Amino acid sequence: MATYEELRQRHVADAASMLPGMMERLDWSVERLAAHRQAELRRLVRVAKDLSPWHRKRLADVNPDEVDESMLVELPVMTKDDLMADFDEIVTDDRLHLDVVEDHLDSLTGDAYLFDRYHAIASGGSTGRRGVFVYDWDSWAVFYCSALRFEIRALRLDADLAAAPARGAFVYAHHATHVSGAMGQTFATGEVELHRFPVTLPLDEIVAGLNACQPAMLSGYPSILYGLAKEARQGRLRIAPARLSCAGEPLLPEIRATLEEAWNVPVINIYGASEFGGHVSCGLGPGLHLSDDLAIFELVDTDGRPVAPGVCSDKIYVTNLFNYSMPLIRYEVTDQLRLLDDACPCGSAHRLIADPQGRQDDCFRYGGLTVNAHVFRSVLGRQRNVLEYQVRQTASGADVAVRCIGPVNCAEVAAEITRDLKTLGLDSPEITVVPVEHLERHERSGKLKRFIPLAAKG
Ligand SMILES: [Zn+2]
Repeated sequence: MATYEELRQRHVADAASMLPGMMERLDWSVERLAAHRQAELRRLVRVAKDLSPWHRKRLADVNPDEVDESMLVELPVMTKDDLMADFDEIVTDDRLHLDVVEDHLDSLTGDAYLFDRYHAIASGGSTGRRGVFVYDWDSWAVFYCSALRFEIRALRLDADLAAAPARGAFVYAHHATHVSGAMGQTFATGEVELHRFPVTLPLDEIVAGLNACQPAMLSGYPSILYGLAKEARQGRLRIAPARLSCAGEPLLPEIRATLEEAWNVPVINIYGASEFGGHVSCGLGPGLHLSDDLAIFELVDTDGRPVAPGVCSDKIYVTNLFNYSMPLIRYEVTDQLRLLDDACPCGSAHRLIADPQGRQDDCFRYGGLTVNAHVFRSVLGRQRNVLEYQVRQTASGADVAVRCIGPVNCAEVAAEITRDLKTLGLDSPEITVVPVEHLERHERSGKLKRFIPLAAKG
């Protein structure tokens, strides 16, 4: 049996050989992208009908040889609740029972393969319940390439950037149940030499680590980069990145401005989701490019009706065209996106969206300290028996309500969050974790507001 390292090296090589083709697609015309999507949609529907009993039933009337994007509106929408309730019937490999995948996630101390082939990740998402997602060998590499390819393209187009060492630093989730943690480990020695700093490290340790490795590319949650920009302004952080990128939270206009001012370099925003890969800004135009070769996006209002270009959606339906192990067809995500009309100066025909601004309250402020919601999400998202949760900020910590589907050690969960908050510099954090029968939802959208900052408390 191959070791993790042998598998990983093979995966790095496979991603490297896949990358040129993935990059070529950045320069495809609108028509070529549409033709590609149609072929991929037909392939996906065929696989889903052949191998997923759940999809076979729902797509009984759909002919894989004839389906195209315009017919998607006639297909049923699927939700995270569907995915978690019917997981075993949705995946296309009989071995991928939810229990097996959950056991694998529970056992992770670092990145690892399941059946030498799959990667599993769990996501709290910004609203709704926890989701578990499985990627097979190729789709995991495609996901990675989707987040990286505009950066590699920029390296080739920009002589200054090309002269910089191919060394990057990542300040994200460290746990391998999260896509950023796991993917960073799988491809740690790929195109770019990656140094990873867990977001839960004390800030001065991150600063010392960055000073030591001198990354040419720095990537992290916007709230973390914002803190690092302040460290740079005060002279403690002494790095000269040629490129900044961020993901996982809204890139608020004031954070973007602060980052640009601190290092005077383009800020690349990445809209990545555990469900459907990376969508990235190129550094030359406004907003971000959707990966129009890898997914079909429908921007809709609360009632599921398409919104006009330029109008912000209430949610989106995404059809993931590259992950056959878990077909997601018209999968509902409650993200608010707005399509831009602009043609990008970089020449790519992949459509542009504005910086997604939908999750701006996912940060708590305690005096001068900003705590990323990720600190909570990271601990709560690992609890397989926590169905959903709500975190209300208090003056000295937070009250966490959890809806459980099995035993949860609330004291241990509270202790873990407390420890992470202390590490970040919050003095004597007070955390309560209490099981509840029912969580309040937004009346109109039905969304669960997961993070309620102190100021917004009613
Ligand atoms: Zn562009």
